Amino acid sequence: MSYPELHARSLADPDAFWRAEARRIEWHRPFETVCDQSRLPSVRWFVGGETNLCHNAVDRHLASQADQPALIWVSTEVDQEKSFTFGQLHLEVQRMAAIFLAHGVGRGDRVLIYLPMIPEAVFAMLACARIGAIHSVVFGGFASHALASRIDDGAPKLVVSADAGARGGRMIPYKGLLDEAISLARCKPEHVLMVDLGRVPFDPIPGRDLDYATERERVLDAQVPVTWLESNEISYILYTSGTTGKPKGVQRDVGGYAVALAHSMANVFQGEPGQTYFSTSDIGWVVGHSYTVYGPLLAGMATILYEGLPTRPDGAIFWNLVEKYRVSAMFSSPTGIRVLKKQDPDLLKRHDVSSLKGLYLAGEPLDESTSSWISEALGVPIIDNYWQTESGWPILTIARGLDDRPARLGSPGFAMPGFDVRIVDEVTGLEVPAGQKGVVAIVPPLPPGCMQSVWGDEARFLETYYRAIPGREVYSTFDWGIVDEDGYTFILGRTDDVINVAGHRLGTREIEESISSHKAVAECAVVGVADALKGQAAVAVVVLKDSAVLTAEDRARLSAEVMATVDRQLGAIARPAKVYFVGLLPKTRSGKVLRRAILAVCEGRDPGELTTIEDPSALDQLRQLVGTGNA
Ligand code: AMP
Repeated sequence: MSYPELHARSLADPDAFWRAEARRIEWHRPFETVCDQSRLPSVRWFVGGETNLCHNAVDRHLASQADQPALIWVSTEVDQEKSFTFGQLHLEVQRMAAIFLAHGVGRGDRVLIYLPMIPEAVFAMLACARIGAIHSVVFGGFASHALASRIDDGAPKLVVSADAGARGGRMIPYKGLLDEAISLARCKPEHVLMVDLGRVPFDPIPGRDLDYATERERVLDAQVPVTWLESNEISYILYTSGTTGKPKGVQRDVGGYAVALAHSMANVFQGEPGQTYFSTSDIGWVVGHSYTVYGPLLAGMATILYEGLPTRPDGAIFWNLVEKYRVSAMFSSPTGIRVLKKQDPDLLKRHDVSSLKGLYLAGEPLDESTSSWISEALGVPIIDNYWQTESGWPILTIARGLDDRPARLGSPGFAMPGFDVRIVDEVTGLEVPAGQKGVVAIVPPLPPGCMQSVWGDEARFLETYYRAIPGREVYSTFDWGIVDEDGYTFILGRTDDVINVAGHRLGTREIEESISSHKAVAECAVVGVADALKGQAAVAVVVLKDSAVLTAEDRARLSAEVMATVDRQLGAIARPAKVYFVGLLPKTRSGKVLRRAILAVCEGRDPGELTTIEDPSALDQLRQLVGTGNA
């Protein structure tokens, strides 16, 4: 069967298609209904079935693979490597689960995980899955305010954290950031389970903080049976940025997610039990959830958990790991590869990467030069895949296990099974013809694995995703796209104010709110300006309360202060690369900030005719500042 036929079948008869796919995982109790569409656009997959993600990722492989590697931890930050077989992983996960249970964490309770890329992070995620607790992993690069808002939203009973993360040899004191976040949060977790990595000294808070090593000693022989969960119970919450300052908790189920991941592991990544998978993504992002932790383990593969930079000790570290662990599939982002492009090209030649069958890149548009460079250097297929935190697995790619059509540069390819992707007009909601730009939308039901809802806010879920396109109840990806005459889809950037820095999605509103908290700032606008390395970089245009003429020193000082505010509140990842101080923000007569015009000027482009602008001189000052490079 050709891929277009198979895809059409998955849409015409989702029950038959996904019933067959559901055999890829083990069910404790069979499901009664494959796809409950009675409350569209919400869908429930595999209703009545009972399963468990931890069972499928770990226990299931014990019979045949107990002594094979499951988790390979490599840290170039602290120069350590440690490997856990499926048998050892099983023990560690049960110990972690026993600690959770001993402190009152049960089914449906939230556990917030704020950890660097260390094995305990994986143990904690799998332990939650094992006992039916809901994990909420927060990226370690986020600082106190970002963390506090996620604590308040998820109301975790327990937080798992560590003394410090590390980046480029520098220690980042997680414990200090966490303590500040908890003091800012309205909702206080009962306990913090602290993994003491011996990286920075810290003072435990008596009664609240628990020491992981001590707790673990007490439960070395723990046997914690799997809690069987109905397929639609919640496995996790993962926050992502939207157009408001408040991040959305993307909520995912158990059974649908397991089936979608197992399906993609077989057909997109062509993973086989016993092989090794290497995703460079941090566990704080969706790729980390789906393809650093759950996907490879579900497929019986070993997964590499890498703590470190792509360029330390040198630009060959990735290829070194590919060679050493005979990696068969690798997942990274275009930025991750662009960083390497600057390094000595001979670094690649020193390593035998013949085990690698494909390099998968996602998270941001893949530019032709990066794709061609790495494809030539590695000599393996480069597979662009397009998806979102919300989808949980690729929406568009070329599934090499099912489809032999060649890739087309600049396009991730075609819709995956179950995704009924249409390009629609943003105003009318009608489909646009091939070759015409529109919004990438998906007709419900969305396939298994996609978000169930926004945590605690079903109305926001429906409002945000299903009412964005007038006249049609379709899921909006908030991306522009275009389909060519052969059906290849191209992604052309976001329709909203979300920006994408180094493959990470950031909300400009959140950054603006942080900058506005600086006492000297009256108002500001943040835009994502094209950046050769990171895809986009945040740039802030700021109006000060006191608009006196600024000296060069004033600008430098205030700019550093604004950046430090964002670092402290949100994390360095959200820090604007440049801050321009202007007397006035360009606005429409009704007071709406003209972001597209600001962006055009920051990128040195002509903003075009602005008929609605209140004061045309507002852009002149910015134009001058950008022109002189005077931030
Ligand atoms: P996130 O939810 O952080 O994974 O970000 C998802 C967003 O990243 C999408 O809505 C796109 O804007 C962008 N994105 C992800 N993958 C790709 C890709 N392969 N090509 C172009 N844009 C992408």
